[in-house]
Amino acid sequence: MGLPTKVKYVIIGAGIHGLSTAYHLALELKATGKGSGSDILVIDKGSIGAGASGIACGVVRNNYFQPAMRELMAHSVEVWESDPKAYSFHPVGYMQISAECMHEDVGTIYEQQQAIGYESTFIEGAGDCQKYMTGLFDDWQAKNITSVLHEKRGGYANNTASLYGLAGKAEAEGVRIATGVEVTGFEYGSNSGAVTGVITDRGTIACEAVVVGAGPWVLKFWEMLDLPKAISIKGADGTMHENVPMWKFWCLEEGTLGVDPEMHKTNDGKMPPVIHVDTDAPLLSDVDGSLITEQLWGLYYKPDFNFGGIQGGASPYKVDQDPDQVALDPYGPDSPDFIVGDDFIHMWCSMLAHCQKRFEGQIKHYKHKEKSGGLGCFTPDNFPVFDIFRENVYVIADSNHGYKMIGVGKLVAQELVGEKSRLLEPFRFGRFAKGELHPVSHSPFPWS
Ligand SMILES: Cc1cc2nc3c(=O)[nH]c(=O)nc-3n(C[C@H](O)[C@H](O)[C@H](O)COP(=O)(O)OP(=O)(O)OC[C@H]3O[C@@H](n4cnc5c(N)ncnc54)[C@H](O)[C@@H]3O)c2cc1C
Repeated sequence: MGLPTKVKYVIIGAGIHGLSTAYHLALELKATGKGSGSDILVIDKGSIGAGASGIACGVVRNNYFQPAMRELMAHSVEVWESDPKAYSFHPVGYMQISAECMHEDVGTIYEQQQAIGYESTFIEGAGDCQKYMTGLFDDWQAKNITSVLHEKRGGYANNTASLYGLAGKAEAEGVRIATGVEVTGFEYGSNSGAVTGVITDRGTIACEAVVVGAGPWVLKFWEMLDLPKAISIKGADGTMHENVPMWKFWCLEEGTLGVDPEMHKTNDGKMPPVIHVDTDAPLLSDVDGSLITEQLWGLYYKPDFNFGGIQGGASPYKVDQDPDQVALDPYGPDSPDFIVGDDFIHMWCSMLAHCQKRFEGQIKHYKHKEKSGGLGCFTPDNFPVFDIFRENVYVIADSNHGYKMIGVGKLVAQELVGEKSRLLEPFRFGRFAKGELHPVSHSPFPWS
């Protein structure tokens, strides 16, 4: 496709956020009579799904300790449910199974899910939890579990299939998607700081507004837009913390046990919900019985025909490096640095065996040949920033929460045509200086 030299909206990134914004913006423009999909160009330096969206495990859940995140996720689940076929969405539900240190936090999540009408069941106490879990899986054996939150909605989607579903819907509305085009900078107006053109390796595209949906590459765009590398944050006690780095990287560790996905069916022969367990029971090696950890640990897993086995992951680790020096490219499975190793495989397979007897001794089936894992770029409080910078640049920085957040693009599209979103309001950049931070849970994951 020849690259246009002028278009009203340039959306950078053909991941979940760029594509969802493009599709929903096309619908909004049509509905409001303000234009159509032909006013939108999506560009990506790689291909559709070249970033985090293309390797995401695809878990879609509501389970968040932060009320604003929960409301946003409930909205996104509605979008997934609106076209499960095109989005390759499997509505199998989701379970948060936790140790006592998380009991109270998860109890508040349950209460608030009831308040917003998000269907879930909450089981409390070790005995009742064990009974509930063995009612689903007769080999359930995870220890120190005192609460189970069973979300009846949510589940998972197949990563690239859903992206192609979204891209197809966007193109059907007249949106153009140009891949293999790299953004290298911006042109600015002479009388304002607004962007007037997007500079690419194939020429400059004049535009009226830009959306950045660049996933882990967001810090590169932050720099191109001349936004601050370090910021001031007001803490809960009112103290101002100066010079806090805006971005940091965590490495997500995931993998696949190459067994028949059907082996993880429930007692009544159905496909199970996505399972997430956090426990402080000692984790012993399923290979030699040695102690792996006595700290709180967590894993998630699901049977997945797309990945060809039981797919899931464990807590990520923080990348202890200057974020500007972190090698983002090649990304994902092609990275020489940020893919999982033997330690993860040993630990995750032992976690699976800790939870269900059927996974004992299965480590030999781990899919070693398929490289997995990838980087996520996080904000100072680990929650998203959805905001407009330099007057006309909408930055969608999801702090790696985001494959499940297919609805964010819909809300961003509404904001682009002039309708403010209550759901996006708690995620503005100004919250850091104002000290309007989100509450923090006891979960071992930076995204709960
Ligand atoms: C291993 C892993 C597992 C995950 N699992 C889940 C999960 O189960 N559930 C969940 O909700 N989230 C999950 N996440 C997080 C989720 O994948 C991300 O939050 C989300 O996909 C980010 O989407 P995005 O559209 O912002 O960015 P991306 O999908 O990363 O897309 C950004 C695009 O921008 C392009 N780009 C970058 N720089 C340029 C440039 N200069 N010019 C042009 N194009 C450029 C890239 O090529 C890329 O295609 C996971 C993340 C990882 C790494």
